[in-house]
Amino acid sequence: MIKLVTTRPKEKALLAGVFKNGDSAESMAELEALAVSAGAIVVGCLTQRRTAPDPAYFIGRGKAEEIKAKAVEAAANVIIFDDELTGAQVANLQELTGIRTIDRTDLILDIFVQRAKTREAKTQVELAQLEYLLPRLAGRWSHLERQVGGIGTRGPGETQLETDRRQVRHKIAHLKKVLVEIDRQRAVQHKKRTEVYRVSLVGYTNAGKSSLFNQLTRSRAKVEDRLFSTLDSTTRALKFPYFPKVILTDTVGFIKKLSTHLIASFRSTLSEAAESDLLLHVVDFSRPDFRENIGAVEKILASLKADKMPTLLVLNKIDRLEAPAAFEEKNSFWDVALVSAAKGTGILALTDKIEAFLRWSAQSENGRPARPAAP
Ligand code: GDP
Ligand code: MG
Repeated sequence: MIKLVTTRPKEKALLAGVFKNGDSAESMAELEALAVSAGAIVVGCLTQRRTAPDPAYFIGRGKAEEIKAKAVEAAANVIIFDDELTGAQVANLQELTGIRTIDRTDLILDIFVQRAKTREAKTQVELAQLEYLLPRLAGRWSHLERQVGGIGTRGPGETQLETDRRQVRHKIAHLKKVLVEIDRQRAVQHKKRTEVYRVSLVGYTNAGKSSLFNQLTRSRAKVEDRLFSTLDSTTRALKFPYFPKVILTDTVGFIKKLSTHLIASFRSTLSEAAESDLLLHVVDFSRPDFRENIGAVEKILASLKADKMPTLLVLNKIDRLEAPAAFEEKNSFWDVALVSAAKGTGILALTDKIEAFLRWSAQSENGRPARPAAP
């Protein structure tokens, strides 16, 4: 796997963001969590309000100077922007600050590189990295040169850049073929399992999907207070007395600003969800912004064409709440369950609701209509 941009453990990161209105806290907090997940220490954070990004530096020139001063003061070795930068912006910022500059997508991809385990996930990450890199190659040239270690390089000349573009395109084409093949193999495996009911856990990252997966299956999927601790989906059988063939899948977490580019790259990993009979949308009910998180997940589900799936909303972490907030149901969910995956509260009631859905689904004539009315 080509690692072009890497946040090495215990790198000191300075965060930067540009916002149209003052509301930057949530997004920057998430960026910080992502940076920590990638193994960095966050040494500072700078934001700016402006209506449109600066074409040359993304942030204002003056603010970029400020970033430089702060980065030097805090001995930062990487600057991370909350939004996608162009190749030119990266190049300009690096020239001005003398410090490696990456963006949110680079950071997410870096975490994905660290977490990917299966061949499919690894291939998807590498493809996503290369596709993200290609139009930004000019800006990233200095990293590429460093990574390649000078072999066959004669400096960042245009000729070399062209050769490189060609190599990247070639590699992209190859990886796409590999993924088509993996997809084909999965389709074959899938056919053998058509009699099986599939239930998938979806939700914002850190909502408690893996904890709930463990409660429901009593397995030991990795539970971590980190973003994207599991990139590959995990699948286990769920045991119901009358439905012996039910499998539950734990999927990768969703976050805000997950760019369409990344969604496209991870479509086949996420498509597990779109092929399910029932989605369990897990929500961290103890977060004040839980509604926004529901919205962010629904948006991603829509882009995967999985927004019309029967969905059971699971409001998790009720142990953290003195009195659970009132939740006015939008009526778009099959049902709503209140649980604490950590304490095991409400799990039986939840399995009852899953079973009720499966019964309903099995009894309804043509199997699995798009979105049933709640009972
Ligand atoms: P995922 O990213 O959605 O898979 O979330 P995890 O299952 O890995 O959980 C993320 C964090 O939330 C972990 O630190 C869990 O221990 C914690 N967590 C999960 N469920 C609960 C819960 O019901 N109550 C509390 N207090 N913490 C929980
Ligand atoms: Mg998880």
